[in-house]
Amino acid sequence: MTEQIAGIHHVTAIAGEPQPNLDFYTGVLGLRLVKLTVNFDDPNTYHLYFGDDAGRPGTIMTFFPWPGGAKGRRGSGQVDIVSFAIPDGSMGFWMERFKHRGVRFEAPAARLDEEVLPFTDPDGLHLELVAVPVRGLRESQPRSTLPGDRAIMGFHGVTLLESDWRATDRLLHQTLGFRRLSEEGNRLRYGISAGQIGARVDVLRVPEPIHGRVAVGTVHHVAWRTPDESEQLYWQERLRSVDLNVTPVIDRKYFHSIYFREPGGTLFEIATDPPGFAVDEDPAELGTHLMLPSRFEARREAIQRALPRLSLPPVVRAA
Ligand code: ZN
Repeated sequence: MTEQIAGIHHVTAIAGEPQPNLDFYTGVLGLRLVKLTVNFDDPNTYHLYFGDDAGRPGTIMTFFPWPGGAKGRRGSGQVDIVSFAIPDGSMGFWMERFKHRGVRFEAPAARLDEEVLPFTDPDGLHLELVAVPVRGLRESQPRSTLPGDRAIMGFHGVTLLESDWRATDRLLHQTLGFRRLSEEGNRLRYGISAGQIGARVDVLRVPEPIHGRVAVGTVHHVAWRTPDESEQLYWQERLRSVDLNVTPVIDRKYFHSIYFREPGGTLFEIATDPPGFAVDEDPAELGTHLMLPSRFEARREAIQRALPRLSLPPVVRAA
């Protein structure tokens, strides 16, 4: 039994209109729509999953679109920024691409030992690209609609904004098994075994609580990977042993999940790698049809009528 969480499984954020969100993550970032479904807790809302060609854990960015929804604000106990890994040497390609497509971005900056390109999506969600030596990654095969030497490889990590950072530090370090890697200014860096995507968490320490709001343009939760259900039960027990309020196992069809709030306030999930997105669609057809859990099938027509119409991207095979 491993005593260390296996990195990021997926990150879920809230979007406004679904079409610009879909166009941005597929058309600009080159990710694949790997699942078109609804929020299982609110079937009148889409749930869009973007990832690499197979939607491998560690590459999956998901959205609940709330058309006309209130704009969110980043505060303490929330995710400050989501980082994607790109191959070393591809920063220039991405800056050119952002320039041509009207994406808001800042000049690349050095941070710790990394080169970072901050940008925002159409809803103002804060994102960044981090250049990563490809050889250092175990899961280093970029699979995307973009050429392999430029494509997003998956998550690099997430940055949490925390006023109560000591409690978050204890959770990450003592309970979830992250190693403390480095420190720069108010930034604390944590990681799991090197050479894996989605293996890094930064905590930005803020002296006073900052009042934020989880709504359009902010992250809803971060899900961590676990290889199977027995390890998931181990984590559930371990979290309970440090008095965290963790949910029972919930069947999300593509993975099984438990949820809890880290002490600073960010919603965390631990999700199993299996069964994955090919459980209800052929791998070649992922994301091409609206998929519903069986309990909603009887209401499919009404659900479909209530959802905004979407124009789906052409099915593109991995480059
Ligand atoms: Zn989730």
